[in-house]
Amino acid sequence: MYTPVKEIPSIVRNLRESFFSGITKNIDYRRQQLGSLKRFLEERESDLVKSVENDLHKNVVEVISAEIAPILGEIEFMLKNLNKLSKTTTVKPQYAMNAMDKCTVRKEPKGVVLIIGSWNYPIQLLLLPIVGAIAAGNCVVLKPSEVAAHTSEFIAKVLPQYLDTKTVSVVQGGVPETTALLVEEFNHIFYTGNGAVGKIVMAAASKHLTPVTLELGGKSPAIIAPDANVEVAANRILWGKFYNAGQTCIAPDYVLIPKSQVDTFIKASKKILEERYGRNPQESDSYCRIISERRFDAVKSFIDNLDSSKIITGGQTDKKDLYIAPTIVYPIASNEAGLMNEEIFGPILPIIPIEDIDEAIRIVNSKNTPLALYIYTEEKATYEKILDNTQSGGACINDVLMHAQELALPFGGLGPSGMGSYHGAKSFETFTHERATMIKSTGLEGAMEARYPPYNDSKKIL
Ligand code: NAD
Repeated sequence: MYTPVKEIPSIVRNLRESFFSGITKNIDYRRQQLGSLKRFLEERESDLVKSVENDLHKNVVEVISAEIAPILGEIEFMLKNLNKLSKTTTVKPQYAMNAMDKCTVRKEPKGVVLIIGSWNYPIQLLLLPIVGAIAAGNCVVLKPSEVAAHTSEFIAKVLPQYLDTKTVSVVQGGVPETTALLVEEFNHIFYTGNGAVGKIVMAAASKHLTPVTLELGGKSPAIIAPDANVEVAANRILWGKFYNAGQTCIAPDYVLIPKSQVDTFIKASKKILEERYGRNPQESDSYCRIISERRFDAVKSFIDNLDSSKIITGGQTDKKDLYIAPTIVYPIASNEAGLMNEEIFGPILPIIPIEDIDEAIRIVNSKNTPLALYIYTEEKATYEKILDNTQSGGACINDVLMHAQELALPFGGLGPSGMGSYHGAKSFETFTHERATMIKSTGLEGAMEARYPPYNDSKKIL
């Protein structure tokens, strides 16, 4: 059930009152809330799996490994590091005039924060950010994606039985509800989704000068160098591409590969797809569906607009079942209309033949900065050259997706692929205000004389 729009202002007001009551400043309270979130994930695991299965036909293995395990990992990290992360740090003054003073950086919660989730990983993208928000001591409004309706409904109904409703509220709804939320004043907005809505979020945030984290998408390239192990590259790229049927923000969007390697890559790919999903992937319980008719039509139109001789494998669709087969297309031009102008966000892998690495670099740089960049090579000089001459939110050499799972690495985009980052310590930092505090004594007032007017030449101190 969607949250009535007229209730939204009072939801935010109540959270602000709770924030000012100081309840979330208490570290034990934060720990207890994180423990409750952990309990929710563990006790309600089968319900959560069922919800995502209903939304995306996602296999239990993918739900647990990509939706639930990362949140549990983040909770464990916070519980282990909370004392250290939240501790006021003391820094050494750099100027002689402050030498006798105490300089500290207090790690304070920002206040009331809004987290807007996306549908493609409807649990992870909503509840991973809340771990950092709670750990840092904030009150939170959670807005699940209405597009993943089963998961949104389940979380809205059951999560409040676990988390303190004085400090965490779930607002369910679509555009009208999110629009009403965005009118309110928050102290941070954390949004995951497409860039067009990202601009709406940022414009709304600017009315209150609210800082934002935008986790967006883009066309993440996979570059295969001439020296790469092509079979291993195909194994890994296809896993990342067809995981969640291509509906992953950091899925490899397209492959740039030397002409001489194309045949090996395609031969290996056909074999891999059949091994993983069988002759008819529609019958495989390891293969997801497209989330909605709207997205189905958008992804299918990429196939419909291509010359059918370019479909190397796949291409079958079934709208009633929201099924689009794992599809590989070749040869594709780097500026191919439609397919190469926007994020595919579905199970189609374009293969673009290249002359050399310089051409790959030129192609990557001709497009918006991607969220991820993948490079397959055994040569350090090759990946360093590509990294030095391109930009991306993150990068992974000789694999896909895995850099985003590592808690020690910040996760986020750059420009059109996003701003800000999170995961592990970065999550805590994102939801924290570092309050610079200088503590002076009232003694030695005579030494201060030089800064007070009236000024004269003897007071010109460099
Ligand atoms: P979506 O449709 O679920 O939208 C995301 C959120 O925005 C939802 O909660 C929705 O209610 C809200 N929303 C939609 N329209 C709105 C409007 N007009 N005003 C205010 N709020 C609105 O998800 P999506 O945008 O289709 O997600 C897919 C995109 O997200 C892809 O581009 C993908 O790459 C990107 N993505 C990024 C990450 C990341 O971590 N960087 C993760 C997942 C998805």
